[in-house]
Amino acid sequence: MNTIDKFNKHIMPTYGRYDVVLKKGESTTATDENGKEYIDFGCGIGTNSLGFCDDEWADAVSKQAHTLQHTSNYYYTSISSYVAEKLTEWCGYSKVFFANSGAEANECAIKLARKYSFDKYGKGRHNIITLVNSFHGRTLLTLTATGQDVFHNYFFPFAEGFIYAPANDTEALLKLLDENKDTVCAVMFECVQGEGGVVSLSKDYLKTLCEECKKRDILTICDEVQTGVGRTGKFLASEHFGIKPNVTTLAKGLAGGIPIGVCMADESCCDVLTKGMHGSTFGGNPVCCAGASVVLDRVQNKEFLDGVLKKGEYIKNELIKMKNVRSVSGLGMMIGIELEGIDASTLCKKCLDNGLLVLTAKEKLRLLPPLTITYEQIDKGLKILSSCLEN
Ligand SMILES: *Cc1c(COP(=O)(O)O)cnc(C)c1O
Repeated sequence: MNTIDKFNKHIMPTYGRYDVVLKKGESTTATDENGKEYIDFGCGIGTNSLGFCDDEWADAVSKQAHTLQHTSNYYYTSISSYVAEKLTEWCGYSKVFFANSGAEANECAIKLARKYSFDKYGKGRHNIITLVNSFHGRTLLTLTATGQDVFHNYFFPFAEGFIYAPANDTEALLKLLDENKDTVCAVMFECVQGEGGVVSLSKDYLKTLCEECKKRDILTICDEVQTGVGRTGKFLASEHFGIKPNVTTLAKGLAGGIPIGVCMADESCCDVLTKGMHGSTFGGNPVCCAGASVVLDRVQNKEFLDGVLKKGEYIKNELIKMKNVRSVSGLGMMIGIELEGIDASTLCKKCLDNGLLVLTAKEKLRLLPPLTITYEQIDKGLKILSSCLEN
């Protein structure tokens, strides 16, 4: 039986997959089992920050696998403390919790916010305000946190404790905060809504949101699972907006393509979850932390980040000249393309046929190229995209 048939026979049909079996990758190029090559503008959904199989990254990961692959969290390992130190120092947070995915990092943030409020105010202040069109994950709790009705189906009953606010609407937010002043412990948001179509929130809105929450002792949780780790040309997207949320979560790009999630908390709430209150068997896994250490050593560098910003600007400038492109959104190398005359999934398939991997986000085409991509590779990919848009 061939791979595709075997796969479909034994793996649950939760994804619409393309009929391509990828076999290996190098830098910005993936190769399928027939030897056909693809330029990668999707990056495993923003995870392979350094591209495919970066030498330094692969060496660190395999060296760690040969040294100590896992210990459980009953013991200390130096590689996880290295990653935690790099994260807290660069981002200005006090402590981190290690998980294995974005959804888990967000679960930690939600538990932390509720416990923070419980400690200070007792029961009842458990609601989290999230934004319409957000995406926070696939667990039952983070699905409920996700502010899109399409996700609130089939799996009833969903968790309680979420209130949805329209994004970028300060008045509506203030009204909800007033109406629910005794029940809200946190507001959670993405600076740039990724799955929601690469939609950036406004700076004024986010500034007011953070100020008003602070006044009310409501925690701010920034979901940077997609926007974080240099994706937008700053290490955290929140830096573009001049805000410092109490809690920030990271995942996708952090370990360069192996599973990790992190919940980072500031001084006000970093000791709220104490012994036995939260955990994860694999959290802080040394192999994944070894991957993260290489990503952080590379990405936590102003020159590197400025380079990401510049490449993003270059790509956007080229895109806007292309046929059937109505508008371009996003920050750094997190890019959304509003199309006309062709729908995103048709274009995505056409690009694949022509040797370019891209993503969609709602009705838009979405690009998340590896942060290390060269201009030559960018031009190669854009040429394919442009010709797919033309005919
Ligand atoms: C992908 C994503 C998640 C979920 O991450 P998983 O690792 O799939 O659990 C959560 N929030 C945002 C903003 C994401 O883009």
